[in-house]
Amino acid sequence: MTAHADCIFCKIIAGDIPAFKLCEDDDTLSFMDINPYNDGHCLVIPKGHYENLYAMPDDAMAAVSIATRKVAAAVNAALEPDGLNLVQANGPAAGQSVYHFHMHVFPRKTDDKAWMNWRFAPGDMDRIGQIAEQIRAHL
Ligand code: 5GP
Ligand code: ZN
Repeated sequence: MTAHADCIFCKIIAGDIPAFKLCEDDDTLSFMDINPYNDGHCLVIPKGHYENLYAMPDDAMAAVSIATRKVAAAVNAALEPDGLNLVQANGPAAGQSVYHFHMHVFPRKTDDKAWMNWRFAPGDMDRIGQIAEQIRAHL
């Protein structure tokens, strides 16, 4: 697996800095986030260093997805949160602070006011249709 010398998550994978590990397999590592928004907030990462979602190969993405579902189910069974979000950030405007792909397993409490919440407001259907066309051109 390729590691990045300055990457905090590569150092956790290598065992150079400590972490509250939950589980691992050949391709992924899951561990507790040290700045939890709510109890049980944890992270699932690929063992290879990929900066963000766009850099992730399909096999690493598949492995992270499978591990994420397993960890989220364990968090749900252990802590019985009111809800749980999977959150994944790409780029500074999205809140990415560590540039090694990671999936947040983010337990929710009713009315916990986590920043990711937004209110539903009806969109402009013409604009939504045009944007869908722009995205489809890249699929
Ligand atoms: P991002 O802001 O990139 O979506 O998420 C990065 C996450 O990594 C943050 O929630 C932050 O608390 C967590 N984090 C940063 N450094 C460390 C560390 O050294 N150990 C652990 N366990 N988590 C970290
Ligand atoms: Zn890394």
